[in-house]
Amino acid sequence: MTAIKHMILGGGMVAGYAAKELAARGLKPGELAIVSADDSLPYERPPLSKSFLAGKDTEDTILINKPDWYSAQGINVKLRTTIDRVDLPAKRVHAASGDAFEFQNLLIATGARARKLDCPGNDLPNLFYLRSMDDSRKIRARAAASKSAVVIGGGFIGMEVASVLSQQNIDTSMVIPEDRVWSRIFTPALSEFFENYYRSRGAKLLKKETVASLKGSEPLEITLSSGRKLSCDMAVAGVGAIPETDLFAKSGLVIDNGILVNEYLETSQPGVSAAGDVANCPDSIFGKRRRVEHWDNAVSQGQHWAAIAAGDRRPFVHVPYFFSDVFDLSYELWGDPGGATQTITRGDAKSSSFSVWWLRQNRLVAAFAMNRPDEERQAAPQWIESKQSVSADRLADDKLPITTAAN
Ligand SMILES: Cc1cc2nc3c(=O)[nH]c(=O)nc-3n(C[C@H](O)[C@H](O)[C@H](O)COP(=O)(O)OP(=O)(O)OC[C@H]3O[C@@H](n4cnc5c(N)ncnc54)[C@H](O)[C@@H]3O)c2cc1C
Repeated sequence: MTAIKHMILGGGMVAGYAAKELAARGLKPGELAIVSADDSLPYERPPLSKSFLAGKDTEDTILINKPDWYSAQGINVKLRTTIDRVDLPAKRVHAASGDAFEFQNLLIATGARARKLDCPGNDLPNLFYLRSMDDSRKIRARAAASKSAVVIGGGFIGMEVASVLSQQNIDTSMVIPEDRVWSRIFTPALSEFFENYYRSRGAKLLKKETVASLKGSEPLEITLSSGRKLSCDMAVAGVGAIPETDLFAKSGLVIDNGILVNEYLETSQPGVSAAGDVANCPDSIFGKRRRVEHWDNAVSQGQHWAAIAAGDRRPFVHVPYFFSDVFDLSYELWGDPGGATQTITRGDAKSSSFSVWWLRQNRLVAAFAMNRPDEERQAAPQWIESKQSVSADRLADDKLPITTAAN
């Protein structure tokens, strides 16, 4: 049995940034252990559907901390170690290998896994799901030998993968169940902008379609709900993620779309916290609970847990944020458009420089920005957090500085 002061279960993004923050706050050698099922040290996941997938980044360039940094800090990282049993009241976790660990303070950061298609053929060799570096490597290798691809799902991972594959001159079709891309978040005008952009870059869009079945491998044959058949060298499904909570089903933790934590990221079990994709956290800005599956949330919650572990106990208050890169476009989104009563566009929605502002009554609840001035990027999270009242007319007038829209 190894006894540890701080233990992080899961060696992903939360772990990488939590370790960095704890070290900056005076961690002593031997005080922190990271136990991870991964075979790589904590790495940035966003490049897996962008630059790493495109072959522009390597394992070394996407690591959050360099390999010798962990040993220099006296942090014990146990890779290829899957925890398969926990006894949280006894403050113990057990690995499939037989190793056991006793902790004073545990951070659960087990993330999420890619959701699989629910249809016959959902495990065929040339159908890929994307969560890990290894998944990305396999997609990259198959793409190098492919002339045609089908991307299933029109969320951010599907859109990013389709963008990378199209740019490799692979004939790429996207199959999406909705009548427009990312309808859950985007306004119709935003969806239209991206659909036109994708078409202009050669990607095809098959809307209001789901996959009924897959068969074969070379080629892979896909039958859609309409009966339409597609034949391709490879397919990638980006159909959502499931929080990794199975391990805690009988642990006494409260699980409801992730592990429920309070505003200090603490679970119902003393000494046990959760952060990142696996955690369902109260959002005091919007007055609701949410489980966020984005980079900034993993980074910020990892750092926040470390601050609390180092004695700086404050509630986690954070504006949800998300970024994505597709083709030569980079965009960002703050807040939560749900419940908005009005949307306003600054700039020209047909160009690649515009922003969209979602208002509920006269308060800003969400903002999208692509190639916009820093003042707009700064105003968005500040106004959402402060519940700033804004003038819709002044906000819509692109000739006025954004700051004049604050009432
Ligand atoms: C392909 C891809 C692209 C993305 N792109 C973007 C983007 O452009 N913008 C954005 O905002 N967000 C993006 N994200 C989301 C972002 O990467 C995640 O929100 C973030 O990785 C979550 O971090 P995490 O530490 O909670 O989980 P993860 O990074 O998934 O880490 C979980 C860790 O837990 C380990 N683990 C799980 N179970 C066990 C167990 N029983 N025992 C031991 N270890 C275990 C896993 O092996 C892994 O190391 C992307 C995600 C993916 C997959």
